[in-house]
Amino acid sequence: MENKGSVLMQRYELGRLLGQGTFAKVYYARNLKTGQSVAIKVIDKEKVLKVGLIDQIKREISVMRLVRHPNIVQLYEVMASKSKIYFVMEYCKGGELFNKVAKGKLKEDVARKYFQQLISAVDFCHSRGVYHRDLKPENLLLDDNGNLKVSDFGLSALAESKRQDGLLHTTCGTPAYVAPEVISRKGYDGPKADIWSCGVILFVLLAGYLPFHDPNLMEMYRKIGRGEFKCPSWFPSDVRRLLSKILDPNPNTRISITKIMESSWFRKGLNSKSTSSKESTPINADAPCDSSEKSGTAAEAKQELAKLNNLNAFDIISLSAGFDLSGLFEESDKKKEARFTSRKPASVIISKLEDIAKHLKLKVMKNDGGLLKLEGSREGRKGAFSIDAEIFEITPTCHLVEVKKSSGDTLEYQKILNEDIRPALKDIVWAWQGDLQQQQQQQE
Ligand code: ADP
Ligand code: MG
Repeated sequence: MENKGSVLMQRYELGRLLGQGTFAKVYYARNLKTGQSVAIKVIDKEKVLKVGLIDQIKREISVMRLVRHPNIVQLYEVMASKSKIYFVMEYCKGGELFNKVAKGKLKEDVARKYFQQLISAVDFCHSRGVYHRDLKPENLLLDDNGNLKVSDFGLSALAESKRQDGLLHTTCGTPAYVAPEVISRKGYDGPKADIWSCGVILFVLLAGYLPFHDPNLMEMYRKIGRGEFKCPSWFPSDVRRLLSKILDPNPNTRISITKIMESSWFRKGLNSKSTSSKESTPINADAPCDSSEKSGTAAEAKQELAKLNNLNAFDIISLSAGFDLSGLFEESDKKKEARFTSRKPASVIISKLEDIAKHLKLKVMKNDGGLLKLEGSREGRKGAFSIDAEIFEITPTCHLVEVKKSSGDTLEYQKILNEDIRPALKDIVWAWQGDLQQQQQQQE
């Protein structure tokens, strides 16, 4: 095979191909220093550039950084070469859950365990404003302890893609698992759509076949729209009841995750307090992650884990070089832009930027999309000076702000950025992205 045996970035030895997605190939790899097994997703930059999927990739990185949970495939590191982007991830030795189901239905207790783990992961994502939107058995992997790990955040949308009405509008996902309101393109509520998919998955795990299935696609959509499915005779009554509440075609009356977790079928085998056995559902996902969970972890990864200990302080853009996304895409722009995260509301960020502009005698122009232009009136060495500041909502409580020079002299900009803007932003900045540090080091 093409890459087998080759060494990546002097650190990972590439092994066999594990799977293939639309734009990516996933390989098994081993960290040469520590021997740790990892999975590396290799994305062809050019392909991604051509179809304009950069934002999606960036989003995928942000999402994977944001959601650290025992049932979500963990991202260790992002690397890039001239032509490729590499995601170094937790290796799921057990492969796709789909392969298990393809061999036939699962025992009730086994299906319940997977469902509990799935719901735990999905609940966690939702609490952080992240919706998966493509939940299906192919995207559920198993680790070597047989624990479920949700993967493939390629399609997940953060709160940012919500429109004014607060509903998501992109139709995506796989028909058989997609909620009726997604198919009818009415605009939908991310959490409710994910809950529907979890219901389809639960049915598949228990039955070994799909609840909504028809050789005719229109007929299948019709069945989904009506929530028309039949449980096989061996389904116990409590799981039938639960399924009918999850596969409710009306998203407004569909059961919530909280209620699913309270249902008698779900609770069976769960100790209410302790998280029972090690291999059971890690309900207590908000607790600090145990960085000693894998003894063979690379030192760097360990440092990362330490930093990520507190999930409430989700540092999307960390200061670590391993996660520095600058230079992955806009190499020529590298020196022009700086990014920081803030946990203040957009209005506070905007008024802060306006204050700074006033102080610097720059004129402010705003548009609705969160873009601010700070423009100087006098002509500098290279024409009028202007700075763009763009505000992105990462989650409802976290914003990413990108500051860059749009015209004028670079040296003048660097000076203003480092001597005026950066100190003035102190109160609202949560973390600056690493590239600024590097710039400063270059200047010193
Ligand atoms: P895409 O987003 O392009 O669909 P995926 O992330 O779903 O790519 O990966 C494609 C396939 O590679 C998966 O379906 C799975 O079989 C395999 N794979 C992905 N991540 C891992 C992993 N962490 N461990 C083991 N196998 C994986
Ligand atoms: Mg996939």
